[in-house]
Amino acid sequence: MIAENIKQVLSELPEEVRLVAVSKFHPNEAIEEAYRAGQRVFGESKVQEMTAKYETLPKDIEWHFIGHLQSNKIKYIAPYVALIHGIDSYKLLTEVNKQAVKINKTVNCLLQLHIAREETKFGFSMDECREMLASNEWKELKNVRICGLMGMATNTDNIEQIKTEFCSLNKFFQEVKSTWFAHDESFRELSMGMSHDYHEAVAFGSTLIRVGSKIFGERSY
Ligand SMILES: *Cc1c(COP(=O)(O)O)cnc(C)c1O
Repeated sequence: MIAENIKQVLSELPEEVRLVAVSKFHPNEAIEEAYRAGQRVFGESKVQEMTAKYETLPKDIEWHFIGHLQSNKIKYIAPYVALIHGIDSYKLLTEVNKQAVKINKTVNCLLQLHIAREETKFGFSMDECREMLASNEWKELKNVRICGLMGMATNTDNIEQIKTEFCSLNKFFQEVKSTWFAHDESFRELSMGMSHDYHEAVAFGSTLIRVGSKIFGERSY
């Protein structure tokens, strides 16, 4: 099942778009099945859960942290995390840098933008993000690498609404790229799209889709 679902999703993706298989709340056995099908990039939203899985599963898995990250937990994932998707404040970026310095590593990060209508989702507003980048202070943080942007659309059946939000994030990505990262090849990821909206996300330039339930089935919390 899992293997077939992965093949199905991959068959619909342009070659340059990568699939993050969101395995949160699913056991190691499910990840192993995906791994046997060739999947190597997995997304988790809880530090403890991801770390336990990292410790017991094959070491060539690329672990992406997609949840809301608390400063005091950065140190547990910094040594092995491949990409942190949800940097939603300058403070958090400095905290990641601090932990990365301690272990002499550079940690890859995405800035999370709030594009949804819901109040509850985390992330910078576009103005906050511009302000942060314009201050140039972030350039002193030598142990974090800003690789792009991440966003979640409103959880709705209104496709037009979703498209509008992905379109605006794509435009903002182009603006940020040309204003602050024009000569930085690392800045190239646009993480958007989940099980119910990844087709729309890909149409608007997503490079990383984060798909969980479509691959692993419903989660039991
Ligand atoms: C859980 C989660 C996903 C995956 O959601 P599905 O609807 O199961 O595909 C993607 N992104 C984030 C940030 C998540 O927390």
